[in-house]
Amino acid sequence: MAKQYETVIGLEVHIELATKTKIFCGCSTEFGGAPNTHTCPVCTGMPGSLPVLNKQVVEYAMAIGLATNCKITQVCKFDRKNYFYPDNPQNYQISQLYLPIARDGYVEIETGRGTKKVRIHEMHMEEDAGKLIHDEWDDTSLVDYNRSGVPLVEIVSEPDMRSADEVIAYLEKLRMIVQYLGASDCKLQEGSMRADVNLSVREVGTETFGTRTEMKNLNSFKAISHAIEGERERQIELLEAGKEVVQETRRWDDNKEHSYAMRSKEDAQDYRYFPEPDLVPIVISDEWIARIKAQQPELRSEKLERYKKEFDIPQYDAEIITESKRMADIFEATTAICGKPKKVANWLMGETFRLMKEQDMEPQDLKFSPENLAKLIDLADAGTINSSVAKDVFEKIFFEDVDPEKYVEENGLKMVNDEGALRETVERVIAENPQAVADFKGGKEKALGAMMGQTMRAMKGKANPGKVQELLRELLS
Ligand SMILES: [Zn+2]
Repeated sequence: MAKQYETVIGLEVHIELATKTKIFCGCSTEFGGAPNTHTCPVCTGMPGSLPVLNKQVVEYAMAIGLATNCKITQVCKFDRKNYFYPDNPQNYQISQLYLPIARDGYVEIETGRGTKKVRIHEMHMEEDAGKLIHDEWDDTSLVDYNRSGVPLVEIVSEPDMRSADEVIAYLEKLRMIVQYLGASDCKLQEGSMRADVNLSVREVGTETFGTRTEMKNLNSFKAISHAIEGERERQIELLEAGKEVVQETRRWDDNKEHSYAMRSKEDAQDYRYFPEPDLVPIVISDEWIARIKAQQPELRSEKLERYKKEFDIPQYDAEIITESKRMADIFEATTAICGKPKKVANWLMGETFRLMKEQDMEPQDLKFSPENLAKLIDLADAGTINSSVAKDVFEKIFFEDVDPEKYVEENGLKMVNDEGALRETVERVIAENPQAVADFKGGKEKALGAMMGQTMRAMKGKANPGKVQELLRELLS
C-alpha cells in the first residue's frame, strides 16, 4: 500500500498597520505616492538619525494581541536584525526577537470537522523595508523607500495547520479580526497583508516533523492554495524517490505554477540580532492593557447577534454581511438612512456580491455611498422605477456612485403607469400577435409571458409590469 502523507503548515503573516505615519519617523504611510516622496533621514537610514517610536503602533499591536488571545509582554524591547540588501538602507531592520510584544495566543477556525484552534507562537512589531523595482529600466534596479519604516506586525503561528483550506480559514479569520479592529485594511494584492508559508510533510502517524521549506511572494489566497498543493507534491516526490528535502526559502511563481529555490533558509543566528540601543524598552502597565481592552470595538460575533435582534434579519444574512467590517458598515449606514434593513441586505447579498465577484473586488474596494443605495431602495419601493431598471441604476451607483434620483430623472427611467400609453402599446402587441392570442385563449399561459415581454420591450423596460399584465388579461378576456 502506498504511504500516506500529512502536510504540516505554519504561517508567518505580516500585516501593515493603519497608522498615518511610519513607526520611527513622521513620514506618511500612504500607499501609491511618487517614489521616495514619503521619506526622511530616519527612514532612509542616514547616519546620525534617531528613531522615535510611534505609540499608535504599540496600541494596534496590543489590540491585535488581545483579540487573538495572546499574553502581552509588559516589558518589551526592540532588536536589530542585521542583513545587507538594497531595500534596507540601514543594513539592519528594527524588529523584536527576545521580547516580542505578544505571545501564546490562538484563533479558532471552522473546518470540515468542526472548530479548531490554531496557536499563535508570538507576534512582534517591526519596520517594513523599501521596495526594489526591477523592470522599469534595463539592467538596472531602482529602489523606492516610501515603504521603508511602515509599521508591521508579524504574527507567527505554530505548525498547526494541515491543509490549504485550514490555512485560508486561518488567514480569513486573522484578516477579519484585524479589519474589525481598524488596525489594517489587510489587502493582499497591495501587500498590506502578506503570508510566508512554512511547509513540511511526514508519514501519517509520525511524531517528528519533516524538513520544512518556506515559500514567499504569495499575494492572493489562490496563490497560497496553489503553492501549498505544489510544494506538498514536490516534497512527497522527493521522499518517494529516496531523496531529502532541503531546508530553504522558495519563491512560488503562480503563473508557472512552480516554485524555485531562492536561498538556503536562515536561522536567527545568521542575522546577528542584538538589542536596539537607540530605543528604550516599552513598559506596558496593567492600566494601559485595561484601557485598550475597554476600547476594543464590537467584534464580529457580537455584531452578528445584534443585527439579528436590532434589525430582525435572518442568521444567514447576518453572517454574510458581518464577514467583512466594510460590508457591515455599509449595511448599517444605509439602513440608518432608509430604515429598511432586509432590503439593504438583499441589495448587498445580491447585486453587490455579484458585481464584486465579476470585478474580482474585495469589500474594501467598494466605493459607492450608503446615501445613494438608500435613495435607490426608496425609489424602487415607491414604484418610481421598476425592478429591472433599479438593477441597471444600481450598476451606475456601484461603479460611479451616481445620485439615483438625478440619474433616473435625467435618463427618463421613471416607471410608466400612464394608463393611456400602456393601453395603446398593449393593444398594438395584441394586434400584431394573433398566434399568441389564439394560444392564450386555448389555455397556454406561456403565451401571455411572451406578449408581456414584447410590451415591456416596446416601453423600453420602463412599464409597470403589474399594470401590463392586468391590461393584457383585461383586453384578452
Ligand atoms: Zn521618514
